[in-house]
Amino acid sequence: MTVTGRDLEAGFRSLRLGKAPVIFHASLKAFGQVGGGAETVVEALVNSFPAALASAFTYKTMVTPGTGPEGNAIVYGSGQDANRMAEFFTPDMPADSLMGVIPETLRRNPRANRSDHPIFSFAGIGADPFLAAQTLAEPFAPLGALEQAGGWVLLMGVDHTVNTGIHVAEKLAGRRAFVRWALTPEGVRECPSFPGCSAGFDAIVPEVEKQTRRVKIGEATVQAVPLKALFKAVKALIKKDPLALLCQREDCARCNQIRALTRPHEPTKAGK
Ligand SMILES: [Zn+2]
Repeated sequence: MTVTGRDLEAGFRSLRLGKAPVIFHASLKAFGQVGGGAETVVEALVNSFPAALASAFTYKTMVTPGTGPEGNAIVYGSGQDANRMAEFFTPDMPADSLMGVIPETLRRNPRANRSDHPIFSFAGIGADPFLAAQTLAEPFAPLGALEQAGGWVLLMGVDHTVNTGIHVAEKLAGRRAFVRWALTPEGVRECPSFPGCSAGFDAIVPEVEKQTRRVKIGEATVQAVPLKALFKAVKALIKKDPLALLCQREDCARCNQIRALTRPHEPTKAGK
């Protein structure tokens, strides 16, 4: 069965999000066959929500300097090959394929605008006030603004390991972020607030279960979670367990750095 724009809009409508703006993360493949592909999904989103926002991140701009701050989960002076291959950020640089084809399709839409962070830009339609909230120091401010506006996150055939909003709440909970660097036409820019790893984020599922709405569209499960409830749940979880939502990979530099800075069973003072 081919998924149509009408199927998508009916599915989105059944989530009953009213006039809420959304950030989405999506896998096109997860739907099965979609007639018209990613463009059909973007159209359905734009027809269903007053504002639709997606990550248009560009990790290929990143470079590793020879020196930098301590405890930053990075090997300074490494990655010389990656440095040579790094590209200057430009506003028309495609979003990484890691984001999936739908965010890039949204970005290319003539009605879309894009913020200008060299690593963490967002693209959106009807989303200019959210895009405008971004600064170099606060790359995820658009999601904070979206939360304030009663926004929701849509996970379309993907899980919470790609849910960027959780990084915002981690920071509000006082969790350590990192510094990274990006190539821009103005030179190498220092980019603070580079988040930790998200591989362990699916542990948030039971904490937001009550507020989560789900619908099956084609073969994909689409989950909608209100950002306010998500932020609250993440902050409460980290307050209870400062190691919550970290991944279990032994070689994960960022998760290990956070563990090294955190004594277990001691509530973080910044958590509120
Ligand atoms: Zn990790």
